[in-house]
Amino acid sequence: MNPFAGQFAGPERADAGKNTRRLLVVEDENHIAVGLRFNLEAEGYIVTLAEDGESALRSCERAREPFDLIVLDVMLPGISGFEVAETLRAAGNYVPVLMLTARGRPEDVVNGFAAGADDYLAKPFELAVLLARIQALLRRTFWARQAEKPGKASPLNGLPVCFELGEKVILFDDLKILDGEREVPLTLMESNLLKYLIEHEGRAVSRKSLLEDVWGLHEDTDTRAIDNFIVRLRRYLETDPQNPKHLLTVRGVGYRFESGAGE
Ligand code: CA
Repeated sequence: MNPFAGQFAGPERADAGKNTRRLLVVEDENHIAVGLRFNLEAEGYIVTLAEDGESALRSCERAREPFDLIVLDVMLPGISGFEVAETLRAAGNYVPVLMLTARGRPEDVVNGFAAGADDYLAKPFELAVLLARIQALLRRTFWARQAEKPGKASPLNGLPVCFELGEKVILFDDLKILDGEREVPLTLMESNLLKYLIEHEGRAVSRKSLLEDVWGLHEDTDTRAIDNFIVRLRRYLETDPQNPKHLLTVRGVGYRFESGAGE
């Protein structure tokens, strides 16, 4: 199956040359990697290939300029794509990660998000879809960086940009939580999940609706994967993560956010 069929159709070709973003493509299947590089370079991206996780991490460490985005295959020889994402996040590298998962394995998606991926695409995919995802993720990061500059308003009108929770300030678009002097970086998925819970403050939100509405998963996914995210978010937000006051478990349903502002 050729995932690149029809890649030159469509008006987006007019945009070629405008992208000077640096992408790292981590893919062990040579024909896919080479095909991706060819097509991404045709779109104006600067592309580096890595054929396994270890060399991907080395490329990230040694790159003179940081990558703007990583396309990361899950199934790799040696360490998996999950481990690559986890290692990057643990090292404080919050480069956007688009994970390539195997179709029919929704647990890959969930594990990918848990490892710190920002988005996913199931293989085989259409090139046009991959390009759209890459652009969306880059745009999102671009706005987040713009928003960090003083005096720049967030362009995402109508959406909550920040939320104050006691001493902490959650900056959804900047993908971080300010906690006094401390800054806790969030992945896009952590930020989206938190925003969703806060938007539904006071109401029980099911794990299934979190999976569907936040992550776009309609498959029969193990909904307990959400729990790992909540554990992480509690560590960021709760004074005592073992006795949460804000991210509450609703037995048999899912979770409920309470700001405690009414107390
Ligand atoms: Ca592979």
